[in-house]
Amino acid sequence: MAKNSRDGLRSELLQKKKELTARLERITANLRRGYEADSKERSKQLEDGEVVDALGNKARTELKKISVTLARMESGEFGICIDCGMPIDEDRLKAYPYALKCINCATMDEHSKARP
Ligand SMILES: [Zn+2]
Repeated sequence: MAKNSRDGLRSELLQKKKELTARLERITANLRRGYEADSKERSKQLEDGEVVDALGNKARTELKKISVTLARMESGEFGICIDCGMPIDEDRLKAYPYALKCINCATMDEHSKARP
């Protein structure tokens, strides 16, 4: 990937990381408020809390992917397939910057998963 687009992607990821961290903080604050609510409201609050927690898990998963991707950028491994060591297709990285494998290895994975 060209250095310019890589730098652009890096700042995009950093921005996204900031947003997700802020969202997670809000979600956590909401959850805490739910648990502290009085018992009359508690069952509904807990239901809301579960939804909020699911959202939190999604944000956490994405944050983890972003961290891995940023770390790979730091170490110069970004855009290199973890299986075969070949460069990952630029279009694939644009569509899915968290990709760790080239399209060939990712496709092979799917096939071996389909076959027991
Ligand atoms: Zn590969």
